[in-house]
Amino acid sequence: MPGSEGADVIVLGGGIVGVSIAVHLQMRGRQTVLLDRQGPGEATSFGNAGLIQREAVFPHLFPRNLTDLLRYAGNRTPDAYYHPSMLPRLMRPFLGYWYHSAPDRYAAIAQKYARLIAHCVDDHMVLADAADARELLRPGGWTMAHQTPASLAASVTIAESARRDFGVEYRVLDAAALARAEPHLREGLAGGLHWTQPVAVMDPHALTLAYTALLERLGGRVRIGDARTLARSGAGWSVQAETGPVTAAEAVVALGAWSPVVTKPLGYAPPIFVKRGYHMHYKPDGNAGLNHAVFDVAHGYMLAPMRRGIRLTTGAEFAHRDARPTPVQLGRVEPSARRLMPGLGTRLDPAPWVGARPCTPDMLPIIGPAPGQPGLWFGFGHGHQGLTLGPTTGRLLAAMMSGDTPFTDPSDYRPDRF
Ligand SMILES: Cc1cc2nc3c(=O)[nH]c(=O)nc-3n(C[C@H](O)[C@H](O)[C@H](O)COP(=O)(O)OP(=O)(O)OC[C@H]3O[C@@H](n4cnc5c(N)ncnc54)[C@H](O)[C@@H]3O)c2cc1C
Repeated sequence: MPGSEGADVIVLGGGIVGVSIAVHLQMRGRQTVLLDRQGPGEATSFGNAGLIQREAVFPHLFPRNLTDLLRYAGNRTPDAYYHPSMLPRLMRPFLGYWYHSAPDRYAAIAQKYARLIAHCVDDHMVLADAADARELLRPGGWTMAHQTPASLAASVTIAESARRDFGVEYRVLDAAALARAEPHLREGLAGGLHWTQPVAVMDPHALTLAYTALLERLGGRVRIGDARTLARSGAGWSVQAETGPVTAAEAVVALGAWSPVVTKPLGYAPPIFVKRGYHMHYKPDGNAGLNHAVFDVAHGYMLAPMRRGIRLTTGAEFAHRDARPTPVQLGRVEPSARRLMPGLGTRLDPAPWVGARPCTPDMLPIIGPAPGQPGLWFGFGHGHQGLTLGPTTGRLLAAMMSGDTPFTDPSDYRPDRF
């Protein structure tokens, strides 16, 4: 057939997770084709806050106390917003999310999550060096800015347990130290908590493209096509790319929030729900700027210095993955951001960008063999930390697919737990 090609593995989804998986497979000598319906890194991996979050050993949990629940139910908070029409659909995943957020279960989940998070910076560095993309990475961490001493103290308590149990490093900044570290924040803040190990990516899209270029340099191929064309082909799999059919012995679903569109017809309906988030860039006034990303704890948004300007990213929007953008939260937090950083300046983007964090009720990603589908593998569900965990997931899954002993026990992330 014209244009028909063969490979060892087809990776579906060219976000940071799929690209990282494809690079690791190709590095192991597996001929890999990466398929996406658009250019690599153009969905959620395009617009995140750019943090490789070595500190994120405690995944985002579901609020369990009544005060918080009532506050969120009112739908007026800056950090979370929901489309009321989504509530019936969210009931099931929310029940699971609430269940897994109980203190004892959550503590066990943090242990499992931290085993991946521990490797995130090193795994990115390996790929960034191979891709010659170090200039996109800025070590030095990020800072949580606190408005009150009580809120700072609460963060320090959590940071201390992250340090004690998981080797996370931080330093506490009093008001004067925070002002020295970030002189363009407003005066009068209570202080900050500076996570020192994370690495900031100055342009997340460029990083995904650099890893894609590495894939191609290693001999991997990138194709445009619809992943929903995935079908059994003999003992293997095939997809239709724009260039023609591609067949391979194995396939990997790494479609982030869109993964269920391929897995459901194959009998696996993961309980993925999305937390959408928005960004907007701002041109700093005069010499204003930030040395590191700053999270406004009181209002739940991040200001991250990027190549394009200061990127404001919002919290969680519970909406249909593909619904038209409703940047309510951006409108809510922008005035707070202008108060926090008076030199934030004018908006740079014609419209807010929106992305969809692919979340699971137990806060752990789905990595491993597809139940009942020989030769099919999954790597999705990385929620708030897909940029952080892309290369680590890639390394883990490539080892599993090669029959090697992975660096950590992968059974906690296995797809058939749902
Ligand atoms: C506002 C915001 C801030 C964030 N900040 C951070 C952060 O600082 N640090 C961090 O670690 N994470 C952060 N995240 C989370 C992170 O961005 C995601 O977890 C990550 O991008 C998910 O990567 P992915 O490769 O799984 O999915 P995606 O990047 O969404 O990639 C999925 C791919 O599948 C493709 N696709 C979909 N359907 C089809 C189809 N039918 N056929 C072919 N291809 C298809 C898409 O085109 C896309 O390229 C943030 C997210 C948001 C929204």
